[in-house]
Amino acid sequence: MVETAEVVIIGGGIVGSSVAYHLADAGCTDVLVIEREEKQGMGSTGKSMGGVRAQFATPVNIEMSIYAIDFFNRFEEATGHTPDYRPHGYLFAATTEAHLDYLKSNLERQIDAGLKNAAMVAADDIRRIVPQLRSDDILGGSFCATDGFVDPYSVMRGFASRAKDRGVRFLMETEVTGIEVDGGEVRAVKTSRGKVSTRIVVNAGGPWAGLVAGLAGVDLPVRPLRRQLVNTQRCDFLPTPLPMIIDMSSGFHFRREGEGILMAWPDPEETYGFKTAFDPEFIEKILIRAVDRVPAFADLPVNPHRCWAGMYEVTPDHHAVLGEAPGVKGFYLANGFSGHGVMHSPATGRILSDLILAGKTDVVSDVRALGVERFAEGRLLEETAVL
Ligand SMILES: Cc1cc2nc3c(=O)[nH]c(=O)nc-3n(C[C@H](O)[C@H](O)[C@H](O)COP(=O)(O)OP(=O)(O)OC[C@H]3O[C@@H](n4cnc5c(N)ncnc54)[C@H](O)[C@@H]3O)c2cc1C
Repeated sequence: MVETAEVVIIGGGIVGSSVAYHLADAGCTDVLVIEREEKQGMGSTGKSMGGVRAQFATPVNIEMSIYAIDFFNRFEEATGHTPDYRPHGYLFAATTEAHLDYLKSNLERQIDAGLKNAAMVAADDIRRIVPQLRSDDILGGSFCATDGFVDPYSVMRGFASRAKDRGVRFLMETEVTGIEVDGGEVRAVKTSRGKVSTRIVVNAGGPWAGLVAGLAGVDLPVRPLRRQLVNTQRCDFLPTPLPMIIDMSSGFHFRREGEGILMAWPDPEETYGFKTAFDPEFIEKILIRAVDRVPAFADLPVNPHRCWAGMYEVTPDHHAVLGEAPGVKGFYLANGFSGHGVMHSPATGRILSDLILAGKTDVVSDVRALGVERFAEGRLLEETAVL
């Protein structure tokens, strides 16, 4: 059993692995990642849809995505593993003038933040890209060619294996059960295998982050929300490659996954809680939205063995919580990605490493906006481009 570490990271998913990688890359290798499962990726990371997009509404989310897209382009060189980044684009299809105005004002912010590949598209462009859409009510939309998909599991493995090469240790099948704080400073973590002395702890607990923060006496408003994905059998009638298509009238979105189509829809009836069982009744619900937008989906069989559920880690303003917790020196938060933790894992790892080692970062223009204190101070950010 390890008895001491300069930095302890709680959680070995994509976020904990990215923080470990970036710390090691910056020369801090006395790092211990503690994961309670037998294997990495059994939390949200292994359940993700793998979407990567810079088409967001707030500067901080756009900046984190721009960082990610650049990073995924050089991921293999940096880690020796492929991220399987497929820049097939995200296509938002608007069906009201309000949607169009919203996409236009988002685009202005994206251009201000330095995004070069996003543009408004006309309804006819959308019909050309995906002729199979029912498009009588589509007014136009927006498209970004560098948005796309990665393989979350490969990204996590890339981060973790390069971190291990540099000396980071991973302690599996070990649960963190307590965090010792004395005089407002972190002193140690207690685990199912004994105690580890440390002055710096990073909470990378995914949907369980609120419980982990509670161990240090920190109130972190991150709640788990089930998300379900439905996969189909082989689909020959849609283009290849296909962007992520987002029907803004319902929130229904889909992309190619292997030979089939992977479908998602934010069910407004879903309630918060630690739920990971897939509900077969969801198939009927999502297919109503799917067939409404792509009539040919009525004849495409669902693959019941390739449907699954996982949990988003949701904050009240749908933005991540990054940085040191006020009142507990040495306790850092990397949580609450609200459905964007895979795409924001590269920026998060770098930001946390910068904050731990240098106390500042230039990855985003205002990292303080993501501090947990914003909830108590009423400084919420509003991200409306949530899928
Ligand atoms: C259906 C679905 C679709 C999604 N689609 C996308 C998408 O398209 N794009 C995107 O960017 N994001 C997406 N996400 C979100 C993304 O998957 C998450 O934001 C991301 O995986 C969070 O990574 P993480 O490492 O913080 O959490 P996790 O992967 O959950 O890792 C946290 C780890 O902490 C461990 N842990 C918790 N408590 C303790 C403890 N006390 N002791 C030891 N270990 C502990 C857990 O076992 C777990 O392995 C999706 C999520 C779901 C569920």
